[in-house]
Amino acid sequence: MTFAQLKALDQSYTMQTYGRFDVGLDHGEGATLYGLDGEEYIDFASGIGVNSVGYGNPHWVEAVTTQAKKLAHTSNLYYSQPYAELAERLCRRSGMACAFFSNSGAEANEGILKLARKYSFDKYGPGRSTVLTLRNSFHGRTITTLAATGQDVFHNYFFPFTEGFRYLPAGDLDALRGQGEDVCAVLLELIQGEGGVYPMDRGYVQALAQYCRQRDWLLLIDEVQTGIGRTGSLFCFQQYGVEPDALTFAKGIAGGLPMSGVLASEKCRSVLGPGTHATTFGGNPVSAAAALAVLDILDDAQMEKIKAKGAYLRGQIEHWNAPLVDGTRGMGLMIGIGVHGKSHKELAAEMISRGLLVLTAGTDTIRLLPPLTITYEEMDKGLAIMREVLCG
Ligand SMILES: *Cc1c(COP(=O)(O)O)cnc(C)c1O
Repeated sequence: MTFAQLKALDQSYTMQTYGRFDVGLDHGEGATLYGLDGEEYIDFASGIGVNSVGYGNPHWVEAVTTQAKKLAHTSNLYYSQPYAELAERLCRRSGMACAFFSNSGAEANEGILKLARKYSFDKYGPGRSTVLTLRNSFHGRTITTLAATGQDVFHNYFFPFTEGFRYLPAGDLDALRGQGEDVCAVLLELIQGEGGVYPMDRGYVQALAQYCRQRDWLLLIDEVQTGIGRTGSLFCFQQYGVEPDALTFAKGIAGGLPMSGVLASEKCRSVLGPGTHATTFGGNPVSAAAALAVLDILDDAQMEKIKAKGAYLRGQIEHWNAPLVDGTRGMGLMIGIGVHGKSHKELAAEMISRGLLVLTAGTDTIRLLPPLTITYEEMDKGLAIMREVLCG
């Protein structure tokens, strides 16, 4: 099939919910992708932070195919070894107590919100159900996670949204302290991803964590984008000197297969007991085996490499002094490039048409989320294309 044929087929038969780029991908290797007509792309996007160990990683492929041959699905009525082993591995590396697995970032956030409301209900009874989130946040596309998302543009069409969310300006401790008695938790991203790659101030996050403890509000961290090595530690909170009561992860966990989950601290271990939360596919053996392989690959030594690669990319970009560039932000291999003078979408489209896949975020940001295993050679190829576009 040629790309033109694919595009026509897709447009005839699929719900047109996505404004797709004119790219039809066929296969990949490392951080390089190949299109239907044989064209080559350097990947600085990894399917929005999902293909964390690149394409065709032999250890990942072996783990997935071995498990697929043994058993693809069990349901959660029965015990499954990859599920339990993955939970153990994530807890050991994060210091959290227990895991629940689901299938998408939004679904994991639904779970953590249920956990917060039930924690409070069990302890204080009804009336303490409000979750505070931050302005400019992003937490997903279900009705409830849209409501949790602190951006007005997402609060449209689908009324009525779930009640019980209020939005705080990031960094504003007074707004936090002014909240009433109806609050049970604060949910935040440590780096706002979709909102434009804005890292939270460390002092703010630590003060917020302390204040949450004082009022027995759960501190919930959405690590759907920042988790699984993206920022140079398995979870971003590990670089902020705070301990969440619960966190969510998704995107990069299974290296390309759908999986997400909640990690909860000891305090929250028993909140969601039998019958209170479930999902048919959650912790599916093939996804869990893939996730175990991802965690093998993303060991502690890789975390240092991720930080070094991120510093390299940002250093190169800043060194150009490109007139269109307004500085870089982020941590590890989660990078935002502020742009002005030309729209971020236009610049991204130009890079993509020249063979470099990048993402956008917020209103003026090019976002880079390359596979964490990308090589320096691949980064240099991608940087050369980016430089042509940004320095013209
Ligand atoms: C992508 C993302 C989500 C939503 O994940 P889905 O898998 O698309 O449901 C939620 N929170 C954050 C921070 C994200 O980046």
